[in-house]
Order: sequence, then structure tokens, then C-alpha cells
Amino acid sequence: MSDRPADVLVRNAKVFTVDDARPAAGAVAIGAGSISWVGDDGEARAHAGPATIEIDAAGHTVMPGVIDSHDHVRLGQDPEAIDLHGVRTAAGVRDRITSWLADHPGAEWVEGEGVAYEAAEGGGLADLFDATATGGRPAFATTYDVHNAILNRAALERFGITRDVDRVAFGHVEKGADGAPTGVIHDFAVMGLERAGQAALAAVVPAYSDDRRYQRLLHSLDLAIGFGITTVVEPQNSVDDLPLFERARREGRLRSRLVAALFHPPRTPDEELDAFADAATTYGDDRFRAGPIKLYIDDVAEAHTAAFFDPYAADPSTNGELFYEPGVFAGVMAKLDARGFQTFTHAIGDRGIRTALDAIEHVQRVNGRRDARHQLVHVECPDPADVPRFAQLGVVPCMQPRHFAPDVALQWRDDVGPERSRWAAPWRSLARSGARLAFSSDWNVAEMDPMVGIYTAVTRADLRGDGAWNTDETVDLTTAIRAYTMGGAYANHVEDRRGSITPGKQADVIVLSEDVFASEGEPMALLETRVDVAIADGRVEHQRDHTG
Ligand SMILES: [Zn+2]
Repeated sequence: MSDRPADVLVRNAKVFTVDDARPAAGAVAIGAGSISWVGDDGEARAHAGPATIEIDAAGHTVMPGVIDSHDHVRLGQDPEAIDLHGVRTAAGVRDRITSWLADHPGAEWVEGEGVAYEAAEGGGLADLFDATATGGRPAFATTYDVHNAILNRAALERFGITRDVDRVAFGHVEKGADGAPTGVIHDFAVMGLERAGQAALAAVVPAYSDDRRYQRLLHSLDLAIGFGITTVVEPQNSVDDLPLFERARREGRLRSRLVAALFHPPRTPDEELDAFADAATTYGDDRFRAGPIKLYIDDVAEAHTAAFFDPYAADPSTNGELFYEPGVFAGVMAKLDARGFQTFTHAIGDRGIRTALDAIEHVQRVNGRRDARHQLVHVECPDPADVPRFAQLGVVPCMQPRHFAPDVALQWRDDVGPERSRWAAPWRSLARSGARLAFSSDWNVAEMDPMVGIYTAVTRADLRGDGAWNTDETVDLTTAIRAYTMGGAYANHVEDRRGSITPGKQADVIVLSEDVFASEGEPMALLETRVDVAIADGRVEHQRDHTG
């Protein structure tokens, strides 16, 4: 116990510490950026002084700040583009464009985000943005998973994409039966986010200008702290993107801690690894750290580009593909591991997941086993035989509960088919096998609000409470919160100083608007739960306005 009075004292609380040494408490004292005391409410007053900020939690849950282990704050949401998330019909997309154009009559481009595949209704995605819809303007949009870009005819012309062009810097050009480009650009999540891809986009599409990119980041960062996310892991960046975060920090806009993973696309030259290592040295503190390396072994199920052993149920002609030959991938991973990098590998299909796990096993054989905590990200459909390998190899599954809500996974289930769907996002099986789950939002592919993720993890239902499926793989509330706190801390090598409310740890603490354990039997209450106060690094960074 320290002698000096607390800077911040949170009282009258149901503290869920996520610390097994003392799971519950009534009050928390914070001083000099750290948690100085955790105890009973009756003893809290002794820690207050005249300058102490007292927060009355009104009997609600107080928990560690959320660690969102996969949150695309940099890509985020462009407040100036048309938000098409959740619009599932062609007519709905056209309505949004029409009303957006009514508000932006001078717009030179139509830019959209979050296009649902089913909105094409069997037609072409680019038809949603044809000249009738856009008034002849060029249109650029991305699919909800950011894995494909959509260009209408006028935009194809701006980029000079004709039937003779198979590849541009930001992706592969899809062709129709007649050999003409359809307007869909594949592999956007990989190539569109590489340096060259970003530069090619910035030269043509307004949304990729530096200023728009910065505004987009700020928008996401403000959302994050409001959702109680005190540590954000931005999973995919080039070295050139890092000054954007540094600018936010300098301008006082980085109110959460941020870890920026560096993107390693296939065929990344070795010199780039030197640049990654330099970046990790330049940005290496507890507010902003760069360094984990993001790779892809496969892509996404909805585009039939995630790698499975057996063909897709919706298209028996393909079982997806790997971005690397397994032996090549194992070599790449061994090289990264030998240089001390932690890796995050996007792995979705059963074959993609096995290939990545095999690579990590190879790494441990050739480099020796170290406390690397390599992650597989998404882990959407492992073969059951691979589930125990996460714990055995010490691999962290970084997963996104909301992707497996029935309303979101509709097409996924058709594509993958009922048999394999039993192993869709097997959170409970992984947790039982001893794997250390890290949960995350995957904003802006899904809602950033961790309560949505926690709710989905405990229900596997939609946001109305309907359609629950594969409920054998739900987890309980404690496990879900742990995966968003200590699980994330472990996944990011900071469990010694973050992830639980423990004296001596960094003071990242949030106060909720409910007692979430009191309504554990009524998960819908989670969706009504807000973050009243977010404290990061001992400072009150967010306080909810109750007047609205
Ligand atoms: Zn993602």
C-alpha cells in the first residue's frame, strides 16, 4: 500500500479483476499511472486525498481495460464514404448511394465501404455502382471483409484497367466470361494494403489521400476509447503507415495504447525485415509499439479463397488455395522467428490452419522453442485434430466472435457446408484444450464494441437473440471477458503489466453501465451495456455523457 493519496479512486464497484489471486473487489485506487490498491469498498476512503478524482461505479462492473487484439483502426471507417455495412439487397445499396449523392451533389467520386456479397443478388458487384446509380461518376468500394475492391466502369477507366490487364498494384483483376474486367479486384486485403498498392490507390482515389487516412484513424481511435478499449492491436501496416500513429500520439489523439503489426506479404524481400526491425526499435514503448509481423496463409471462405482439404460445399470445383507452398511458408516463419519476431498468421480454412501450425512446429524444431506466442488469426474452421495443437505448440488463437453470429455467417455456412460447420470457430473446444484465447473485433469488418463480441461469444445468436447455432462452442461470460483482457495481454506479451486489475499493473480500467454478472442469464443485457468511464495509463480518457 502506498502512503500518498490516489490520483483516481473507483468506489462502490463490483470489480471483476481477472486476477485469480483476488477475483472480486469493491474498489480500486490508482496512482502515478499504476494500480496502487485493490480492496473492499469500506476501506477505500483511506486512499483518498483532497486532489483525488473519485468515481462512484454505482454497483456496476469494473474490469480491466479491453485489449482488442485485431482491430483495423487505421483502415477503420471513412466518415466521408458511404457506409454499406449490413445492406443486403441491390435496391438497398442504390438507395444509400442516391441519398448520399443528394447530400453530396458536388462529389467527384462515389466511395463506399462494407459491401455485402449477397447485395449483388447474383449479379455483378460492380453493377451496384453502374452509371445509373452514380450519375456517371467513378465509384470505388470495398467488400465488408475488405478482401475485394469494386470499381465501376468509369473507375476502371481512371485506372486504365482494360481486358489486357490481369493485375494492378492493389490486386488481381477479375474477368467475366467475355474476357472483360468485371470491376471486382481480388486479393485486395493483401495487395491493396501493400506499399505499392496504397500508392497506386492514393494517386487516383480521394479516400487514400494522407489527410483522409488520418481523419479515418482518428475516427477509429475515438471509438476505441469510448468502447473501453485501452489497448488496440492494429493488425496490418506498412512501415510507411507508422508516422500516422506517431502523429496521433504527438497530437494527443492516441488515448489508448497501440500495437501496430507490420505486414509481410508473400515475396517480401529480406531488406524489408531490416526495416521492420528498425521500426520495432523506433516505436517500442507501452503507448505505441510496432513489431509483430502479419502474414497470410490463405484468404476468406466467402470468396472461396480460404484453403480447405475438401471442396467448398457451394462450389465443388475448388477447395481454395494457399498463398505459399507449405515448405516455403515454414522457411519464411523460421526466418522471422530466428530474428525474434512474433508472427500473426491469417489462417481460415482447415488446410490453411494446418499448414500454419505445421510451420510453427517446424520453427520450433529448427530454432528451438522460445516464448514466441505466434498467433493464428481468425482460425475459422480448424480440423478437429488440430484443435489441441494450439495449446501443445503454445500458439495463440486470435478470434473474432461476431463473425460467427448467424446473421453474419450466413453465406459462410453455405460455402463451407454443414459437416465442417461443426468446427466453425470452436472457442469452447480451444479453451478446454488449454489454448489461450485472444478475442477481438476485426473492426471494421464487424462492430468494434467489445460487448457485441462478448455477447456473441456467450450466445452465438444474432443481435435480436435469435438463430443461435453451434452452441456447443459458446463460452461463459468469464471466459469471454478473459479473452478480451488477460488473453489479449498474454497474446501481446504484456500479461506482467496489463490484462488484470492487480496492484502494480498499469492502470487501464473501465467502469461499465451495468453489473454484467448480475444479468448473466440474460445476455441481451450485454448489448445495452455501455462504458461509463475508461481509464488508460491512470488517466480518465473517456467519460460517458449521460444526458443524451
Ligand atoms: Zn482483420
